[in-house]
Amino acid sequence: MRYNRQILLHDFDVAGQERLQRSRVLVVGLGGLGCPAALYLAAAGVGELLLADGDDVELSNLQRQIAHGDDDIGTNKAQSVAAAIGALNHEVKLEVIPRALVEDSMPELVEKVDLVVDTTDNYPVRFALNRACIAARVPLVSGAAVRTEGQVAVFDPVRGGPCYRCLYASDDAATALSCSESGVLAPLVGVIGSLQAMEALKLLSGFGETLRGKLLLLDLRTMDIRQLTLPPRAGCPDCAHLHP
Ligand SMILES: [Zn+2]
Repeated sequence: MRYNRQILLHDFDVAGQERLQRSRVLVVGLGGLGCPAALYLAAAGVGELLLADGDDVELSNLQRQIAHGDDDIGTNKAQSVAAAIGALNHEVKLEVIPRALVEDSMPELVEKVDLVVDTTDNYPVRFALNRACIAARVPLVSGAAVRTEGQVAVFDPVRGGPCYRCLYASDDAATALSCSESGVLAPLVGVIGSLQAMEALKLLSGFGETLRGKLLLLDLRTMDIRQLTLPPRAGCPDCAHLHP
């Protein structure tokens, strides 16, 4: 009964639901993108979620990080989202990782999941997650949001298309915009995080067509929404060995 509305979709069906139930997903970053992404994955019945974040909830997060509330200020974000999911769906198994992931700790985590959702705002972590996902042959659902602009992509170079590193020739984090400096309008992170959950559900269940090999760009200020096809970049240090 709980999952009836999605089982009604013909191409999803009971088989899709069972695939979700058998799936394990790592969500890295439980902020603006990670809150809606993790809540939707839990509500939809993904079997197990690993939630990683080293930060505590602050007052300025509450404008957009909708799994956290006033009483969660000072609580670790992964812990806070785990509590919200616990109230939402008892069937989901949870592993809380209340620390910032460093590259050395990633392979062990990424190897035991079917998919990684990157909801961080940290370039070194994004690049390291990309490498860990390629090594473990695990798809990476990437999202970013600042001001009114966002992007979503699926990186799965083992099965075709580019990796995250193909988009950025250098790992120069100095050019990265952050919400703390540039601002963000709250529903934007809900839109982007929800699209990441949608892509994850499609990849796990086999339903629909994913954004693999494409980059979805949205500007909610004008509602300009575009899709770019991304070829793998020749000489990419992280995935060139997959497309010689
Ligand atoms: Zn690449």
